[in-house]
Amino acid sequence: MRRRKKHRWILFIPLAMAAFAVFFMIRELRLPAEIPYMRGSASYRAEGDWKTVLVNADHPLPADYSVSLLRLDNGEYVDERIWPELQEMFDTARSQGISLYVRSGWRSAEDQQAIMDEMIAQYIEEGYSREAAEAEAREWVAAPGTSEHETGLAVDINAEEEAGSLRTYNWLKDNAHLYGFIQRYPEEKSSLTGIAYEPWHYRYVGKEAAAEIYDSGLCLEEYQSSQR
Ligand SMILES: [Zn+2]
Repeated sequence: MRRRKKHRWILFIPLAMAAFAVFFMIRELRLPAEIPYMRGSASYRAEGDWKTVLVNADHPLPADYSVSLLRLDNGEYVDERIWPELQEMFDTARSQGISLYVRSGWRSAEDQQAIMDEMIAQYIEEGYSREAAEAEAREWVAAPGTSEHETGLAVDINAEEEAGSLRTYNWLKDNAHLYGFIQRYPEEKSSLTGIAYEPWHYRYVGKEAAAEIYDSGLCLEEYQSSQR
């Protein structure tokens, strides 16, 4: 009897290990990952207009663009400033039976180049010359420095289950602006955005601009011109 009592402290080892694991998991989820960003602009931050920064083929990110990233629990990264509203949107969707996840968040210019290279290789494999393959790939993939994903303000959002895609896209279309996000590439605006319809691509612009863009039906390119 006395011996058993003496070794009771051993029971605390798994408990302590579990407590440590929980502590480190929480730390992992909450700590923003400060990743120095090679391309992109501190100037947007200073001017306070980072929310509506326009990035497209004609407006590449400035070379000194910097972003503080926050790592999501699925390993994707976003600009830490959009996280509270992104989380709020996901929580509300979940409470209405819609499970969302960020399929693609921030990408480095190097990531974007890799996507471009992969597509060029595919076209070459299909028999295109290098020149033709590059031209074709540029039709589909934003050149490094011109993808909104490089800002950390854009997210490709999908349903957790494939079958839920349409319902998810409809929900986002009707509700995302309440959390500061806009559908960035609507079907009827592709001649202005230069990007084909992407029902999954949402861009954080803040609640104020999102409400204006949602109510007016303008795309970000038009909204920017209207602000000048
Ligand atoms: Zn996207």
